[in-house]
Amino acid sequence: MRRSGYLGRRYRLKLVDRQDQPLRLEGDFFHLRRDALPDARKHFRQWYVREGSEWPRKRVAQLAPRTGVSPTRIVARELGFSWGSCGRNGVLYFNCRLLQLSVPLVDYVVLHELVHLRVPRHGPNFWRELERALPRSALLEKELRFPAGDYLVLHPTRPPKARAAQTATAAT
Ligand SMILES: [Zn+2]
Repeated sequence: MRRSGYLGRRYRLKLVDRQDQPLRLEGDFFHLRRDALPDARKHFRQWYVREGSEWPRKRVAQLAPRTGVSPTRIVARELGFSWGSCGRNGVLYFNCRLLQLSVPLVDYVVLHELVHLRVPRHGPNFWRELERALPRSALLEKELRFPAGDYLVLHPTRPPKARAAQTATAAT
């Protein structure tokens, strides 16, 4: 399954002749400057890294009170096929592609990692706490069972066989 977009919405690409930045989001369109087309993949990646760092920070600040814990630091970066992970000393890592997911799924990943700050392992206690912070979390967990790579805009096409062979956990 391939999706492209921003917070669950799909956007179309429009080539423009003049604009300051090579790539920007404008209404329902990504505007890509025509001379930046050969490097489109790089510009999309940079855009997602930049925006993808800001968004989890905001959501963590808003959602942390539901769990009663806060991370010491938030890091957004390429995480391969993981949407997020909980590191040592209270650091939370989020995939910078996170914002290609819909808002409820982003919130799921954020709350999943926040609960890990209290309960490191996926035991009954973990799922109980997550459900308390986010009702219907089990349904969202199912939706996330796609490897992160399948969401990436302009991701190189991989043969379906290779994709099926990947067994990635949505959020660890
Ligand atoms: Zn987990």
